[in-house]
Amino acid sequence: MLTFDERVRRRANRKNNRLRKRYPLFAAELHPGGALADWLVTEQQATSDLAAIIQSKDEMLARVATNDRLREIKGLELRSLVAEVVDPATLATLDRQRAKIPKAGAYTAEFWFARLRTYRPIEAYARCEHRESHLLFAEWHDRCPRCHLPLTKPPTVIPPKAEQTMLPF
Ligand SMILES: [Zn+2]
Repeated sequence: MLTFDERVRRRANRKNNRLRKRYPLFAAELHPGGALADWLVTEQQATSDLAAIIQSKDEMLARVATNDRLREIKGLELRSLVAEVVDPATLATLDRQRAKIPKAGAYTAEFWFARLRTYRPIEAYARCEHRESHLLFAEWHDRCPRCHLPLTKPPTVIPPKAEQTMLPF
């Protein structure tokens, strides 16, 4: 694993070599002290660029980790709702099934939402993240693809025809 300083130097070299390759006629001047030296990426620029890249990557990873924790909590809430209506043996079977899929909050939430849909469809419907879109879904689906609630198409409004509105007196 390279140190931060090594990565900075590698980054600056790579960018500057790319520059020389792109402008072969000026390559001789693209060196410290050359006429086009100010086109070169300095170690200082490479340092701040690399620091910004590392920071945004760390922030992204932190967001992913937070989201995963929230999904895990959500999944366990859904599990407790299922646990209220199934016998202990069934719950143990479901827990074994859950253990077979990857350990990630998204999987926990997904798995238990699907079980809730099976055992308590009304509770699943109440927790469907797509409830707001149900009317929209009704255009294409008979059931919500998420909570499986049957959807009824919104009534189609037919605009009155011109002949009907302009009465022939
Ligand atoms: Zn739904």
